[in-house]
Amino acid sequence: MTPENRLQTIIDDGLCLGCGLCSAVAGPQALTFARDADGEPRPFAGPELDDQVMDLVYDICPGFNLEGLPPEIAEVAPLQDLVWGPHVRMVQAHAGNPEHRHRAATGGVLTALACHLLESGRVPMVAHVRAASDPPHFGEATVSRTADEVLAAAGSRYGPTAALSHIATLLDAGEPFALIAKPCDLNAMRRLAHHDPRVNKLVRYWLTPVCGGFMPDVGFRQFASRMGHDPDRITGVRYRGHGCPGATRFEHEDGTATEHHYLDVWGEDDSQWVLPFRCKICADGIGEAADIAAADNWDGGAPTRELAETDPGSNAVIIRTEAGAALFDEAVAAGRLVEEMSLDVNDLGRMQPHHVKKKLSGLARSRGLADAGSLAPRLFNMRADALDEALGAEAGNAEQRGAERRAHARRLPAD
Ligand SMILES: Cc1cc2nc3c(=O)[nH]c(=O)nc-3n(C[C@H](O)[C@H](O)[C@H](O)COP(=O)(O)OP(=O)(O)OC[C@H]3O[C@@H](n4cnc5c(N)ncnc54)[C@H](O)[C@@H]3O)c2cc1C
Repeated sequence: MTPENRLQTIIDDGLCLGCGLCSAVAGPQALTFARDADGEPRPFAGPELDDQVMDLVYDICPGFNLEGLPPEIAEVAPLQDLVWGPHVRMVQAHAGNPEHRHRAATGGVLTALACHLLESGRVPMVAHVRAASDPPHFGEATVSRTADEVLAAAGSRYGPTAALSHIATLLDAGEPFALIAKPCDLNAMRRLAHHDPRVNKLVRYWLTPVCGGFMPDVGFRQFASRMGHDPDRITGVRYRGHGCPGATRFEHEDGTATEHHYLDVWGEDDSQWVLPFRCKICADGIGEAADIAAADNWDGGAPTRELAETDPGSNAVIIRTEAGAALFDEAVAAGRLVEEMSLDVNDLGRMQPHHVKKKLSGLARSRGLADAGSLAPRLFNMRADALDEALGAEAGNAEQRGAERRAHARRLPAD
């Protein structure tokens, strides 16, 4: 296979997540990064693409390489759970600053931690994402050096977001930083750490929102149209925040804004979500590679209509590492965070039932993709065999066949 074919295989197999890491590390002469015909951010072959570049890409691309914490960190965590992984403890918490709590996606834990890291001098900058201006439903990579900049980027970006597109620039600059990015982005950075020692030297804190998948461009267009808007005339999108979860807000060309109830947009469960194929089969939405992962805390995974209007916002927080625990405790002591109560794996399972199923099915789905002749996600440091055993042969077989069918169905020509 040529290097170009190897690149195209990742995309054709539905595994590219548009994170931007490959073109960041390979450079634009080898891999450019732009929107494809479907509107998705994708790498494109440049004149210097060769097999050496593709060998690296095949080892770090989070589309089919998912890596959790390094064993030497994971193994010393006092609590080990088959589904939820290594952790020090789980808590319910929210930002101490009421404005941060209000503006953030859930309870503002990630914003509060980022502000604490900057203001305590632990790191000079936080690499994370903010709303993009063009197109306004995307997210884009950014760096915050002040609490105001962190707050301006609060909230969840559900559209395509190339969170790692600036990683090479950050590593070249040589300044330490905290990284807030989706679980798959952190998986990719754990892979890159095997090739580039600057990753573990410079990324001082690894923080993540728990993630059930993002919405591709086509999905946003469908849902904006369903809500009665021309997607091309929307100038600003806030998916959530300003309450928990807060309204979904569209700004329009004429300066007006429209707000829709979270449940009208997203549905009472995940049935109205349009997800990329790769997100549907994700084996790590729970931030296995992070020091701290922050999630919603609604039973069943979605708020009731009443709760969506009254909830001030609290995160379920998985503190995985000793570094994460020290950071969390410091932020509580500084008043940046308010710890409400302890949680355990049963609480997390009740709040995130879809993630429990995805964790158990990871390896079976990879087998199914391999059976279909597709690239298949490789799972590192994630208890993949033990989870597969716990799923059981019958359910595992069903997941495997289901993934195989889905992989074949993706390849059928559109009508
Ligand atoms: C695509 C997506 C899917 C999600 N699915 C789930 C789910 O299934 N279950 C669940 O419990 N929670 C899910 N969440 C997480 C939830 O929406 C909150 O982000 C999380 O609870 C953290 O809340 P917070 O108030 O601490 O965040 P905030 O304080 O608002 O901070 C959020 C931080 O995350 C960064 N960020 C936002 N969007 C992205 C992105 N796309 N890529 C990288 N970084 C980003 C921001 O830059 C910001 O620093 C999802 C989030 C996203 C972005």
